[in-house]
Amino acid sequence: MIENLIRSHLKAFQPYASARSEVQQAQIFLDANELPLGSPVTFDGVPLNRYPDPFQCELRKKLSARLDVPADMIFTGVGSDEVIDLLIRLFCEPARDSIAVLEPTYGVYRVAANVNAVEVISIELDENFQLDLVRISKSIKSTTKLVFLCSPNNPTGNLLRREDVFTLCKELHAIVIVDEAYIEFADALGDITNEVERHDNLVVLRTLSKAWGLAGIRLGYCIAHPRVVSYLLRIKAPYNVNAVTSHMALDALEKPEFLASSICLIKRERTRLITALKNLPDVVHVYPSDANFALVEFKDAHAVYERLARKGIIVRRRSEQRLTNCLRVTVGTPSENDLLITTLADRT
Ligand code: PMP
Repeated sequence: MIENLIRSHLKAFQPYASARSEVQQAQIFLDANELPLGSPVTFDGVPLNRYPDPFQCELRKKLSARLDVPADMIFTGVGSDEVIDLLIRLFCEPARDSIAVLEPTYGVYRVAANVNAVEVISIELDENFQLDLVRISKSIKSTTKLVFLCSPNNPTGNLLRREDVFTLCKELHAIVIVDEAYIEFADALGDITNEVERHDNLVVLRTLSKAWGLAGIRLGYCIAHPRVVSYLLRIKAPYNVNAVTSHMALDALEKPEFLASSICLIKRERTRLITALKNLPDVVHVYPSDANFALVEFKDAHAVYERLARKGIIVRRRSEQRLTNCLRVTVGTPSENDLLITTLADRT
């Protein structure tokens, strides 16, 4: 199925062979026109005058051990946003193919498709923000190459039902992408990385930007069939992930205790924040959340947004019709959450 879905010109395409893609160990490197004298700035012993490993072998090996999936099923990118763009470019023919998005959801799927002149088929999630399998199979076209799912979904915060995802994988002649950017915050065991080996057309997106606290280094990855990974490696920019980023990611992955304690604190604060929000007079509804944010419906979201902004507190507005009176609030530190709650409670 994968070979059928990939854009035909990319099957025969000759990728750029970067200097470092053939030989990684040698006595002296005179192949890449780098400066041999070192660099004016340094970072933790990383040789910044040298290009990084184009295939990020060490990082992929480490992620592989952590996730218990083979390294040839992992592709690293400049945030998961880069992986989203590359997946669209790998599978979708501009002005002909389409992607499907399940809305309301993360806006970058649509924007990345628009940039690539790829049609977007918008399908609404059901009233519980779950997949409506009948609606999906009716809406998908023969040109639909990718279906983007997000679990826990941004901005609604809920996990999608796993069985529904697997049903879609079995029924659709398309790649099913499950974006698990927020999965570490989920209460239920939601992640499906180990299912990729059972479903050739399943791709799982992950990131170090959320629970790992590393949004600034821009490191995301996907777990996918080895064929998909090998094509992504061929079409990406030669040195997409930089040396500082991979060094920091490798270092961070040695510190799982930071991850565990952050998740624990954010989950505790999420419960406290949601309970407090529910007791505020301006709040109509707080949606349950398996992520590090909560979707909150207010009587007048616009007024609340303006009032918070005047006090220096920025939350996320929503423009979708279904969510016009909703704001998405990220779970902050205990004192940030206290300030948010007291500011919301004080209506002066
Ligand atoms: N997926 C979802 C659902 C997100 O909310 C975000 C960031 N807001 C991303 C992906 C992008 O993450 P990254 O920083 O890895 O590009």
